[in-house]
Amino acid sequence: MEPDALTALIERLVRPEIQRLSAYHVPPARGMIKLDAMENPYSWSDGLRAAWLETLREVTLNRYPDPTAGELCQRLRASMEIPEGMGLLLGNGSDELIQMLAMTLARPGAKVLTVEPGFVMYRLIATFAGMDYVGVPLRAGDFTLDMPALLEAIERERPAILYLAYPNNPTGNRFDSDDLVRLIEAMPGLVVIDEAYAPFTDYSFLGLLGDWPNLLVMRTVSKMGLAGLRLGYLAGPPTWIEQIDKTRLPYNINVLTQASARFALEHKAVLDAQTQAIRAERVQLFEALRELPALHPYPSEANFILVRVPAGRAPALFEGLKARNILIKSLDGSHPLLADCLRLTVGAPEENAALIEALRELL
Ligand SMILES: *Cc1c(COP(=O)(O)O)cnc(C)c1O
Repeated sequence: MEPDALTALIERLVRPEIQRLSAYHVPPARGMIKLDAMENPYSWSDGLRAAWLETLREVTLNRYPDPTAGELCQRLRASMEIPEGMGLLLGNGSDELIQMLAMTLARPGAKVLTVEPGFVMYRLIATFAGMDYVGVPLRAGDFTLDMPALLEAIERERPAILYLAYPNNPTGNRFDSDDLVRLIEAMPGLVVIDEAYAPFTDYSFLGLLGDWPNLLVMRTVSKMGLAGLRLGYLAGPPTWIEQIDKTRLPYNINVLTQASARFALEHKAVLDAQTQAIRAERVQLFEALRELPALHPYPSEANFILVRVPAGRAPALFEGLKARNILIKSLDGSHPLLADCLRLTVGAPEENAALIEALRELL
């Protein structure tokens, strides 16, 4: 086989927009203090682990999963207070729900609107599905919504869908809820409020589902402590959920996830105690960061803190932390508003202490 022939074949067959993408990169983290991916740092007690493993004894791997994950849905409805009468759709992580939404709405010329800096999967999945992507910058300085620019973009682009993460990733702030209502009312298309960080804030749009025909709320169990299970959920008017469900691949929630998530939600008090501890640690970490010279941490209602470091220092700080076995996320260069910014996931107390100590040495 001629290598040139292979290249020519790929160039001829693969969609140009896919050729232009670089693959989503996850750095290796073995043995490191992992403060890069908004994971819950706490594990389960030996007793709880044993009880979980006991429930897995009943799982049959030779059979397909319950296609509707009925028992898990019931559990989620009760544990997460999904309003009565609303539809519920499960995804292999909320990433898969974003993909189902794209497949449902991707008519030729359909547009995805969101804010920047924001969650990168909205743009990536729009590209996969051949949808046009429109990103409206947040306000420099405090990352609040630029309402005139957003309302103008809605008028101009008539988007099929608007995504707003509430609180936002990677900035950590929560947008003004009255502004969100104005956007829901101005949007000709769907509005998905992405509440991936719900465990770390007291605010939610879940209770407002049904008030508008175009509002959906998306959540995930990842950030509350179950990232390994890959389970997201989308709630909203049942007639919307029925349409989106048509794009779901059969058996998308595997038997181990169904059984494990049911078990975990039966013991949700453990996860709640952990996320409360993370919220308390967030306050400590914020104060410690603020006391370091020349660092500017931004207020957060999520389980991470965005920090602006002195100009030009982000790459060296990232590498310096890595050399000290601490993995964080550098956002420098990813968006003009994020120049000199690092994103620090709130870890366990000793992890945060190690982070602060390392930053103190490096600054
Ligand atoms: C982490 C994150 C998700 C992804 O959740 P998964 O369920 O793990 O796919 C979705 N939205 C936002 C804003 C996130 O930060």
